[in-house]
Amino acid sequence: MDELIRALLGRLRGATQTSEGLVAHSRVLAAAREVASRPERMLRRCAWCGRIRLGGQWLSADEAPEFVRGLLDDRTTHGICRSCMRRLEADGRSRAAGDSSAVSPVRESGNEPPA
Ligand SMILES: [Zn+2]
Repeated sequence: MDELIRALLGRLRGATQTSEGLVAHSRVLAAAREVASRPERMLRRCAWCGRIRLGGQWLSADEAPEFVRGLLDDRTTHGICRSCMRRLEADGRSRAAGDSSAVSPVRESGNEPPA
C-alpha cells in the first residue's frame, strides 16, 4: 500500500513539475509575442552574460523563441540578470574585505608629474 501511495505521489510531483514548466513556457511565448508585435517594446539583455529577459525568466538567446531572436540586435536594452548581480555583489564583498589587488588602478606611463 505504501508503495502505491509513493508511486502516486511521484506521478503527481512529475505532473506538477510538467504543468509548472508549461506555464513558464507559455509566459515566455506570450512575452515574446508581445515584443514581436509591438515595435516600441524592448527586450532587456544582461550586459554581462547576454541572456535576455522574457516572461519573468532570463534565457539564453538559444532558449528564446526563434521569432524573437531576429529582434535581438535592434530591440534590446541592457540590464543585469540576478545571477550576474549576485556574482558582482560577491566580488564587491571580497574586494571590500581586503583583496585590493584586483581593483588597484594601473598608472599610465607619461602621466607622472615631473620630479
Ligand atoms: Zn547575466
